[in-house]
Amino acid sequence: MSEYVKVSEIFGENVFNDSVMRERLPKKVYAELKKTIEEGRDLDPAVADVIAHEMKEWAIEKGATHYTHWFQPLTGVTAEKHDSFITAPMSNGKVLMSFSGKELIKGEPDASSFPSGGLRATFEARGYTAWDCTSPAFVRYDAAGAILCIPTAFCSYKGEALDQKTPLLRSMEAINKESMRLLRLFGNTTSKKVTPSVGPEQEYFLVDREKYLQREDLVFAGRTLFGAMPPKGQELEDHYFGTIRQRIAAFMKDVNEELWKLGVPAKTQHNEVAPAQHELAPIYAECNVAADQNHIVMTTLKKIACQHGLYCLLHEKPFAGVNGSGKHNNWSITTDDGINLLDPGKKPHENLQFQLVLACILKAVDEHADLLRESAADVGNDHRLGANEAPPAIISIYLGEQLDDVFHQIIETGSADHSLKGESLTTGVSTLPDFRKDATDRNRTSPFAFTGNKFEFRMVGSKDSISGPNVVLNTIVAEAFSEACDILEGAEDFEQAARDLTKKWFTEHQRIVFNGNGYTDEWVAEAERRGLPNIRSMVDAIPALTTDKSVALFEKFGVFTKAELESRAEIQFETYAKAINIEAKTMIDMAKKTIIPAVIKYTTSLASSIIAVKNCGVDPEVQTELLGKINCHLKEAQKALEALEVITAKAAAIEDMEAAARAYHDEVMPAMEALRAPVDAMEVLVDKKDWPMPAYSDLIFEV
Ligand code: ADP
Ligand code: MG
Repeated sequence: MSEYVKVSEIFGENVFNDSVMRERLPKKVYAELKKTIEEGRDLDPAVADVIAHEMKEWAIEKGATHYTHWFQPLTGVTAEKHDSFITAPMSNGKVLMSFSGKELIKGEPDASSFPSGGLRATFEARGYTAWDCTSPAFVRYDAAGAILCIPTAFCSYKGEALDQKTPLLRSMEAINKESMRLLRLFGNTTSKKVTPSVGPEQEYFLVDREKYLQREDLVFAGRTLFGAMPPKGQELEDHYFGTIRQRIAAFMKDVNEELWKLGVPAKTQHNEVAPAQHELAPIYAECNVAADQNHIVMTTLKKIACQHGLYCLLHEKPFAGVNGSGKHNNWSITTDDGINLLDPGKKPHENLQFQLVLACILKAVDEHADLLRESAADVGNDHRLGANEAPPAIISIYLGEQLDDVFHQIIETGSADHSLKGESLTTGVSTLPDFRKDATDRNRTSPFAFTGNKFEFRMVGSKDSISGPNVVLNTIVAEAFSEACDILEGAEDFEQAARDLTKKWFTEHQRIVFNGNGYTDEWVAEAERRGLPNIRSMVDAIPALTTDKSVALFEKFGVFTKAELESRAEIQFETYAKAINIEAKTMIDMAKKTIIPAVIKYTTSLASSIIAVKNCGVDPEVQTELLGKINCHLKEAQKALEALEVITAKAAAIEDMEAAARAYHDEVMPAMEALRAPVDAMEVLVDKKDWPMPAYSDLIFEV
């Protein structure tokens, strides 16, 4: 029994959460901190000192020796620098453990090597981390011991955002302000704050660690750059929701326990569509907490996998021809007193506030589809979006039957007089319960789907931070709310004006609504007719960041300055160029040093066997034909390898980052494909024993 844990006892045990603070902090200090967390008031330095002291005492009791300002630079992963709590040795040679309010609030990691896209020159490299008291500190245990991790934002000397968190917090303030304006118009006098909530569903692959280490491409690029499809893929769908194998189950158990201790409410786990693919979904949380927790989830998956002799692949497309991984970003906006603005209620046709909120979201998504698409752009995600599995690269909104009906009633007549009801589901088996169906079915092919009381943005990549997409969602919706309030605040008959505006925006933005199958070619053609953008790659998506429209939007709500947007675009182009450069160089290395030599060895032994067979007076017909075929592919591979080397060197010499990214996309990527094809063709011809690395079948079917 001892192996079985009591979740309620361990949940949050390593988190400096509200109940720990309430218990340990003096009443007045606790009240001050709550004011800062809930109302955004400045924190008094004396109060910060008391909090820091208690936080340290608590962390030391948990075994912590160090603390770190934990932040999210624009590298896609989290960063930290550890400082121990010890002070300078005293005259008796002993040390004290200390931690001041100043150390809690502000850090100054040198950190000059993080991407800044030109915002910081190295000679003025000061960067600061600032405590985000709205996301709780926690103690993390690993080989380095126990570390107190303090979630922080990371900014330049001039206050420019150098991370994912700062703009996210800014966008949360924007949507709070504009949502409150809207709620007041509808007569709400009780709510004090509106916060976006997010539940990110995380997909990932697990492979055997030993096999992983034998694949240079997985180690360097996080995805396979070569690899022939096994005879069986995912076509039988027997993995999806299948019984979880014991090795994986043991891994999931440890992941859950670790996450629960860290206060991450891991809720759902199951096998995904592809063999070796799985999903973990937590219960949703406030947007910035959800973003931090998602980073904790990703780190924990990686760490626990190692302990189980496994490796966790978070890349969006680790295996060509097999489903990729994404992260469904479930998003809603809720007041502090529990009103979800996206809840249509039982009678959506009568819910004017919900209808107007919906109209604002349609307008926001339609006008800024390019930004939303950009927010999901990630080097790995290029292999996913539009590849008949994940949502297409075209942004559209799925409303579902019930809302779509209300939407059309309003467009046609200006108001709606009924809502379609969920019917009851009867199975025809008397021992099974009959129950009411949801009024709305699911549509898995839509990138932005209404699912009951939230929108699910399904484009986000599995490896990516969810901050970027939520910054865009919060800000574009804040803009639409703001415009609605500007119009309605002066209206004589508010209700009529709100109805008129809802009808107007529903009508003007109906092209963004699409309830059909998003994977078909017909939709691509239809979307083009509707004038919806189809942005196929990350390189094509990045320019959306710096358009006049985008600068005006983000500056209006204080989320990004023009300089910050330009720096982010620059970093994105650079990230793309660097990632493809690594992939190309990895392919060159593997082909040159491992694959071609292995094939030469195999063909040499094949040639010897041909002679030997001939010497026995037998016609080595099969062997000769095989040798001819392999040799043909070998020649093609050698030619493609030489071409890839030349093209990659040319791209690497380009200094302008946008031009470099373009060259990697337009020239290097096709050259990589040209090398992969003959290698994959050889893989299925060469003796398995002589193939120099584990095959797809070894990686995805034998975990
Ligand atoms: P799916 O069928 O797509 O797997 P689920 O209903 O299991 O969807 O929910 C997926 C995620 O959405 C979970 O993380 C859940 O906590 C989150 N979620 C549920 N309700 C909300 C909400 N109102 N706002 C934001 N996220 C939500
Ligand atoms: Mg989902």
